[in-house]
Amino acid sequence: MKSTIKGHQGVKNFLEKILMGKVPFPSALLLEGPPGIGKRTLSREFFLNLYCRRETSHYCGECHSCKAIHSHTFPDIYRFPEEETIKIQQIREMKDYYVTPPVESNWKVVYIPSLENMTINASNSFLKMLEEPPSYLRIFATTNYAGQILPTILSRFMQIPLTTPSWSDFKAFCRDSLPHIPEKYYQLLFYMSHSSPAYALKISKEQGFLTIRDKCLEGLIQLSQKEEAGPLYNALNYAVEHNMERNFFPTILFLIRDLIYIQLNLKEFVVNRDIYDKIMSLDKEKNVSFLWDLADTFYEKLSVQKKFYDQFLWNEYLLWKIMKLRKSQ
Ligand SMILES: [Zn+2]
Repeated sequence: MKSTIKGHQGVKNFLEKILMGKVPFPSALLLEGPPGIGKRTLSREFFLNLYCRRETSHYCGECHSCKAIHSHTFPDIYRFPEEETIKIQQIREMKDYYVTPPVESNWKVVYIPSLENMTINASNSFLKMLEEPPSYLRIFATTNYAGQILPTILSRFMQIPLTTPSWSDFKAFCRDSLPHIPEKYYQLLFYMSHSSPAYALKISKEQGFLTIRDKCLEGLIQLSQKEEAGPLYNALNYAVEHNMERNFFPTILFLIRDLIYIQLNLKEFVVNRDIYDKIMSLDKEKNVSFLWDLADTFYEKLSVQKKFYDQFLWNEYLLWKIMKLRKSQ
């Protein structure tokens, strides 16, 4: 299957088998995994490969079908909006859509990019629909939060889990998609984006993640030197103004985390290596132990908002606890 996505080889192989007719096309398929790792891109590429008129498993991007899929006007795909609540009225409209057979191909696909967003009424109506679907209909869905989907609905889907890309896949993504970012920042970006390529793309615009980091570090230094919170508050404001507030707490956490790694003599784990000396200068401040409490509070805050931070933050949080323990020994 032709795809621009790095990694996810197992999933791509499986989708390829569907395209080649080596395995049956499941009546309902769900790609699930953390945000920003390529589930929707993979879905679109699967549709392109499925419907391209060239009839190979490598879409051309130029035929009538490919162009219509790109502009969301292909008649055999019914597409639900992303990130919006799905109401019962939309399920009724979908039913009106699929009662007639496909016009351009063998399959009609209903594509639901945020399956977790169905109201209870919509879910019940959708369940009824899943009982007797027409033979040409296929449901293709993605979700970041499978845990928020009704178990009765979930059980109707073949679930395909996708994980965050490995470090080497992430590096390959950076080389291809972020040529303006020097390689020395890849690791920082990997941590800052929680290894999500989509989010890395967003925060790397105008190197905004570096600006936030500089402002945060300056804020922490000022806080330690003069007990002045203004500069840190300015960093938060900058993050909010540039739509990167999700980055604010993790940036501070990684700076504090790096400081503790430096103190423990575990320099190879330092993420912000390019500003090593500046972080060291923070260590020289007398009033630095309050940072541990600050990090604790932030980690707990973030683990409550699990919606955004998932497994990645949980791992970091446990690591933080272990490091603190080691430090106090
Ligand atoms: Zn094509």
